[in-house]
Amino acid sequence: MKKKVLLHICCALCSAAAVKMLRDEYAISFYWYNPNIYDEQEYRNRKNAVTKYAEELNVLLYEEKDFLYNYNNWKNKSSEKCNLCYTLRLEKTAAFAKQNKFDFFCTSLLSSPYQKQDLIKQIADNFADKYVIEFLSSDFRTGFYEGKNSLRQKGYYVQKYCGCNKSLNERLKLKEDTTQ
Ligand code: SF4
Repeated sequence: MKKKVLLHICCALCSAAAVKMLRDEYAISFYWYNPNIYDEQEYRNRKNAVTKYAEELNVLLYEEKDFLYNYNNWKNKSSEKCNLCYTLRLEKTAAFAKQNKFDFFCTSLLSSPYQKQDLIKQIADNFADKYVIEFLSSDFRTGFYEGKNSLRQKGYYVQKYCGCNKSLNERLKLKEDTTQ
């Protein structure tokens, strides 16, 4: 029987590479918890894409039952934004995986060449120790563009920035600088 992996899913596009590399060996379920995505419409667009992808793959999709989107809860916590962002998502994932008897937890954040792999793994390893559950430490980046393009071709929603309002501002600034 395949071992069970709870894959924290940051968006459908990033998860495609992880799914491709894990699916033959493991039984995957998705876990949606991304509370600092800005704004609410963007949050819904990404979540709808993940729901559609889970249906397409016929995998279970879990999400935090008590969570209500409220961006104001996160907007002042910006000094070490990515560290905090990885921490809050990975801790929930590790705790949920343990509580629901998964063998491993993992994250689609490890697919993206734009994320900080070493920091993600360091934070995840800490929660693996805290919750006594293994973190499936992988690097899915080689499949990122292929996975992303395969979903884009099927009409999945394609986001233009990482997720939080700071990453949106960075993206807008870059666009402004390159058009000047
Ligand atoms: S840039 Fe991305 S990883 Fe960093 S805090 Fe914002 S959403 Fe999270």
